[in-house]
Amino acid sequence: AKVSAELIWFNGELIPWQNATVHVMSHALHYGSSVFEGIRAYKTHKGTCIFRLQEHIERLFDSAKIYRMDIPYTVEEVVQACKAAVTANKLEAAYLRPLAFLGDVGMGLRPPADAKADLMIAAFSWEAYLGADAIENGVEVGVSSWNRLAPNTMPTAAKAGGNYLSSQLISMEAGRHGYTEGIAMDVNNQISEGAGQNLFLVRKGIIYTPPGTASILQGLTRDAVFVLAKELGYEVREETISREALYLADEFFMTGTATEIVPVKTVDGIAVGSGSRGPVTKALQEAFFGIFDGSTEDKWGWLESVSE
Ligand code: PMP
Repeated sequence: AKVSAELIWFNGELIPWQNATVHVMSHALHYGSSVFEGIRAYKTHKGTCIFRLQEHIERLFDSAKIYRMDIPYTVEEVVQACKAAVTANKLEAAYLRPLAFLGDVGMGLRPPADAKADLMIAAFSWEAYLGADAIENGVEVGVSSWNRLAPNTMPTAAKAGGNYLSSQLISMEAGRHGYTEGIAMDVNNQISEGAGQNLFLVRKGIIYTPPGTASILQGLTRDAVFVLAKELGYEVREETISREALYLADEFFMTGTATEIVPVKTVDGIAVGSGSRGPVTKALQEAFFGIFDGSTEDKWGWLESVSE
């Protein structure tokens, strides 16, 4: 879907959306050399706040570190720039997309040692990623014939532009088969993650999710589920999950910044549990969305006001 806002933060300045362009010879366009984040700002009981902003920006710098990419700003400068991107566009709620990329650094595959990344931060309105009623009614997914990246090929710990070619294959195949989203297996043919979501299943009251070794991005929403599940008294186990375990789960849900927490009603056409949102998923959603209306106390400092 096309998105828009008035201004974009680009290399230190807020400029009109339509002027935020790059040259066709940009390194990132040819070789995938970019790292990025997806972050949400919510309209909360304390005004507009960005969820886990500091940690998202730290992850951006971690992604850059893996690729030896020099982002010529500090974490704190990027944190403040994210807030500015929201307030400059007078947004009460927003999706934020910071992107660091290699631009005018020449056509050599190996970037020059002194190359500096360009940095842009867009903030814009973006509704529920998997559709408006997905949060309550759930989505239908299918396991993809495409595996996620194998260890020691392209690191899935980095949220790098090039990784999303894998996600596009998974998502396009899912769409062709009539599913809302695709689920990928890792190189060992165990469950990994969605095209842009982490995965959780519930069986006999225990919550399971693939471990960090399953070629996943260790999502901040995934981490929030760990924390909230503990608060609610549920046990979460990071364990290898087989394809058929999805079919036999009582509940199955996906997490991500854009996705938030979305129940899965069918996998490969097989109903998960009763085929509608289960009680554990619902309790976790209430705890998660409660952070934004104040019904869940933010004990962790996850909300960062845009006006601070
Ligand atoms: N895996 C992939 C491949 C993703 O793109 C995302 C979205 N950033 C996630 C997992 C979930 O991560 P987070 O909860 O930090 O948004």
